[in-house]
Amino acid sequence: MTLTYKRALLKLSGEALAGEKGVGLDFATADRLADEIKAVRQLGADLGVVIGGGNIIRGTAASRQGIDRVSADYMGMLATVINALGVQDILERKGVDTRVMTAIRMEALAEPYIRRRAIRHLEKGRVVIFAGGTGNPYFSTDTAAVLRALEIEAGIILKATNVDGVYTADPRKDAGAQFLPELSFQEAIVRGLGVMDGNAFGLCKDNTLPISVFNINQSGAIARILQGERVGTLVR
Ligand code: UDP
Repeated sequence: MTLTYKRALLKLSGEALAGEKGVGLDFATADRLADEIKAVRQLGADLGVVIGGGNIIRGTAASRQGIDRVSADYMGMLATVINALGVQDILERKGVDTRVMTAIRMEALAEPYIRRRAIRHLEKGRVVIFAGGTGNPYFSTDTAAVLRALEIEAGIILKATNVDGVYTADPRKDAGAQFLPELSFQEAIVRGLGVMDGNAFGLCKDNTLPISVFNINQSGAIARILQGERVGTLVR
């Protein structure tokens, strides 16, 4: 089987893990996502996963409630670790070999992030779950996803969402929103289409790292994208 992308980085937001509930970790949803990840491994592709934490806490929202912004951001980074451990457990129970690596050291529960080690894990067929974002406040897990993708030399970023891809407007609010199957980085900027947060998007653009925005609820989507099928929106 030929793979268009041999190595990819999947960005799973906290929202994707919360399912219908919108908050917290929905185990049935996480279980389904784990099946998608398992299918990718069965294809033989290397997969890194950056997990968000927005289903538990977001730094900006917590700081609006009065918590110091930097503390709030660290709380957000810890939330990504909670999600990562949940996803790891579900994957391992399905027989998928995994490692969690954290950007903030906490060796009692996961390995510290070391680039060369991460690559070695991928070469051995392990799914590497990157937790703790970038390890720095004022950043997002989108930025962490692009950073890790560049570091592990992934060919594409897979941005999992609850809609089919990029639209001219929010399809959940605007019935006239048009689906865009493909667009350039420049087009996305000029048209003000929020594919990822600004920092993350700029990093992708500068390094011409393609982004696939797709619906995580569509079964087999990731595996199809890696085989070169057009699923969702391709930004490049
Ligand atoms: N965060 C951070 N630095 C990072 C990554 C994340 O400070 O490098 C914090 C930030 O407060 C963010 C929270 O962790 O709001 C959760 O991450 P994010 O909002 O990116 O998660 P997602 O929206 O993907 O669920």
